[in-house]
Amino acid sequence: MTVRSTCPYCGVGCGVVIRPDGQGRVTVTGDPDHPANHGRLCSKGSALAETLGLDGRLLVPRIAGKDSDWDSALDLVAQRFQHCIAEHGPDSVAFYVSGQLLTEDYYVANKLMKGFIGSANIDTNSRLCMASSVAGHRRAFGSDTVPGQYEDMELADVVVLVGSNLAWCHPVLYQRLAAAKERRPEMTIIVIDPRQTATCALADLHLQITPGADVALFNQLLVALADRGALDPAFLARVDGFDEALAAARRSADAPTGLTERDLAAFVGLWLGTERVVTVYSQGVNQSQQGTDKVNAILNCHLATGRIGRPGMGPFSVTGQPNAMGGREVGGLANALTCHLDIENAVHRQAVQTFWSAPTMAGQAGLKAVDMFRAVEEGRIKAIWIICTNPAVSMPEAARIRRALAACDFVVVSDCMADTDTTRLADVVFPAATWGEREGSVTNSERCISRQRAFRASPGMARQDWRILAGVAARMGWSHAFSWSSSAEIFAEFAALSGVAARLGSDFDISAHEGISPARYEALAPFVWPATAERQGGRFFGAGQFHTPSGKGRMVPVTPAPAPVTDLPFRLNTGRIRDHWHTMTRTGQSPRLSAHLAEPFLEIHPEDARRRGIEPAALVWVYNTHGRALLRALITDRVRPGEVFAPIHWTGETSAAGRIADLVTARVDPVSGQPDSKAAAVDLQAF
Ligand code: SF4
Repeated sequence: MTVRSTCPYCGVGCGVVIRPDGQGRVTVTGDPDHPANHGRLCSKGSALAETLGLDGRLLVPRIAGKDSDWDSALDLVAQRFQHCIAEHGPDSVAFYVSGQLLTEDYYVANKLMKGFIGSANIDTNSRLCMASSVAGHRRAFGSDTVPGQYEDMELADVVVLVGSNLAWCHPVLYQRLAAAKERRPEMTIIVIDPRQTATCALADLHLQITPGADVALFNQLLVALADRGALDPAFLARVDGFDEALAAARRSADAPTGLTERDLAAFVGLWLGTERVVTVYSQGVNQSQQGTDKVNAILNCHLATGRIGRPGMGPFSVTGQPNAMGGREVGGLANALTCHLDIENAVHRQAVQTFWSAPTMAGQAGLKAVDMFRAVEEGRIKAIWIICTNPAVSMPEAARIRRALAACDFVVVSDCMADTDTTRLADVVFPAATWGEREGSVTNSERCISRQRAFRASPGMARQDWRILAGVAARMGWSHAFSWSSSAEIFAEFAALSGVAARLGSDFDISAHEGISPARYEALAPFVWPATAERQGGRFFGAGQFHTPSGKGRMVPVTPAPAPVTDLPFRLNTGRIRDHWHTMTRTGQSPRLSAHLAEPFLEIHPEDARRRGIEPAALVWVYNTHGRALLRALITDRVRPGEVFAPIHWTGETSAAGRIADLVTARVDPVSGQPDSKAAAVDLQAF
């Protein structure tokens, strides 16, 4: 028997082939037929078979720390949520979910909260990952649409990687890019990053930019493109806002970028001399107090030159999590409605309410992640259900999150693991099925929807998340709307709703799969949306037709934001390492993966280490007013003086070792609500 599925880690969304040996072991290899990876896998995907142990799994529902049963736990959660809603209104409850949920689970959570409870207080850990790209897309395109395809990176003559350590965070895309460059050595790769990352090994030009200077840099590029006659007048006729955006760019023409004149001239020259340019951007752009403006500064340059939606051209946001894109499609963000519809639009809300036969509908955007946990802290949210994520160690200012959850009236957690920092704070814990046990679908960064398939039974009493949500919904009186018997039925409903949304102007349309049978769903091959009777996949916006009311694209005037004022001497940058994923629940099970970098560390420049008396490999306290973390000093000129870098994965169990999110600032981008996760002010002290 072989099972085709997808890797549960990053947003590349690689296909895998799983071969169980009938004795409890499996082999996992890359799927040669999957369009994302064509058989490739990275170190994490290759080690999947080593991460299937059941140590630490949660096997039964728990109430107040004691083993219970499904009926008691589901009854209690339904009663407590109903009580809160009756006493304090629907906005007194919240769901905090995850970009690692499957689309079907995500859809059900969103339907329950927005259409039946009647609040939009559902947000997701994807808020921490790519919310600024969503906001930037909406401002520029009128829709949250990724215009291009992975192959555009291979077809481009210049690939610009901004705030993206592709080599470690999206390794198979990096492999594809490296292979393309080997085939065509004349291809030029530019890395824009304050830090010298592993991705720089492939770069022809590394622009070691001042942190946060992305808007200044792309504004200066826009001015140069305009002044040297490199715009596309025909395409600009399909775009609003050019004059305003250029005027704003001119106002910041002298803003510092930290780059030499020579580097700037080389960057501009490559844009001037090359039509096929792709700009890939990721968390280094998104996780910023000005993330949305940074996204629009990039999009402005592509719109002004018509380099979008054509082979080898376009801006390309790559998502961190395996199903951040699916979460966007179902409306899993607090300021979204399902199928890319607009929660602020009464016609859209009515259409969804009618389709769902819902008793009510959230009338406005709910609380985004940081605000949601502030509301928990202040007692405005009295019951929260956390699904498939561990905010007690991953949210910014995580110590504050732990205190807020400890004081909350009612905390429910669905997780596959028994003992996490968040399950420890829960009143009820539901045992959730995980990778290899769940049936559903995910969408990767290029809009490709793939099936994730089960190849083994869930252990103990674990259930898939949508079944747990439907169990609570039924007990709240809505069994008629939550009575699916399979993930296939949920997908069929979602596909039908996408047809309704498309008739209202949504870009997201998978109506070709409306009414899909369980057998067809089981056999469903990866496909790129849109998927309608008339159209299958492809690029968006090449013809200059956007999803704004006027049909025109929009350039947005942006200017650099001042750096936050602080007395602390170091700026803490955070990120992933090559071989671990999030808080290491799964990858931590593989000794091979832990061998790459075995413990949490702090990259610090040699000058700073000398000034502060920090020896190589010494332990260092990193601290600010929010908390502290203990890390091993890694003295390197990969970082610039005054800047330090630490990985996000180690949670320190109950100690401060490696616990970086405690220090990360909860300052957010005002448009997207995404935290400024790469710019915490910190100080250091030798241990
Ligand atoms: Fe999994 Fe991402 Fe690696 Fe592909 S690149 S195997 S999706 S972690």
